[in-house]
Amino acid sequence: MRQLTCAAPGTIEWQDVPEPRLQGDGEALVRPLAVARCDIDLFLTSGFFPARGPFALGHECVGEIVALGDGVRGLAVGQRVVVAFQVSCGACRSCGAGHTANCDRYPVLSDYGMQPLSGVEYGGMLADVVRVPHAQAMLTPVPAGLDPVALGSVSDNVLDGYRAVAPHLADLPGADVLIVSHGLKSVPLYAAQTAVALGAARVDYASDDAEALALAERLGAHPVHTDFEKPDRRYPIVVDAGLTPAGLRYATRATAPEGTLQSVSFYAGGDMAMPLGRLYTLGIRFFVGRVHAAALLPEVMALIAQGRLRPEEVTTRVVDWEEAPTAYLEPAIKLVVRRS
Ligand SMILES: [Zn+2]
Ligand SMILES: [Zn+2]
Repeated sequence: MRQLTCAAPGTIEWQDVPEPRLQGDGEALVRPLAVARCDIDLFLTSGFFPARGPFALGHECVGEIVALGDGVRGLAVGQRVVVAFQVSCGACRSCGAGHTANCDRYPVLSDYGMQPLSGVEYGGMLADVVRVPHAQAMLTPVPAGLDPVALGSVSDNVLDGYRAVAPHLADLPGADVLIVSHGLKSVPLYAAQTAVALGAARVDYASDDAEALALAERLGAHPVHTDFEKPDRRYPIVVDAGLTPAGLRYATRATAPEGTLQSVSFYAGGDMAMPLGRLYTLGIRFFVGRVHAAALLPEVMALIAQGRLRPEEVTTRVVDWEEAPTAYLEPAIKLVVRRS
């Protein structure tokens, strides 16, 4: 079968690979119907994270189940599902605690389409068939009537934006929220959309990117154009979403005393300075860590089914399957590839 492959930095092509098969009675095979490009994918294809040879691309997917092991309950061949991008068993102690990003049975960063990070090739979603080793744990059914293209990014980035604000707004209902976007493309926009949907009194969106600011405004946030020098005010809930020391510093300074600073940034490699003295003195709670995809999927899918979250409003480009090798290297806040 064909699988979209990053053969070298900046080189993406279809390669022929063996079609995966069921290897156990708890497994599923899924045919991807819509695949979204994650905010991290351009860093993978650029060679920012050194790869061990060619690797499969794509880890945000809506697909159709084409085969199921005999032991799988509650799912059916032909059903449409969102596939969690992280491999998790659903049965170990970590999975039981909802920490499905760190399943005890797999090495850290065991995700589809991210061989440069984990060192293990789990396959990519831009393929004819994908093997899901723990179907019940990793697949969430798509409610009838929802468009797979609209749900392309729900495997990962939508969840990442959701978890950045949902628990903190549950603690402080109606609080003002600031999203600091300094390099991540779609996750901060999903966070802004979630904060609006969950009833934040005001959602401000700080960025130096005019396109992102305009999109944030359409989602109901207030655009704050900034060079990340000095915030204008402080907020009880702040989300740090980006790449730069200046952005993190700005987010820290914008957090009110006793407030919450949630980082969804992957500061890979090197040390990032953190003003712990300021956090200590002001009682700022700092949260950092990866999203737990499989654990969060059911509650986020329910919000989407209710029409309260509309991830398609963040999508800026949709292309057909055959266009993936070129489109995948081109700029877009959120690209979705749909099976033609
Ligand atoms: Zn991702
Ligand atoms: Zn597990």
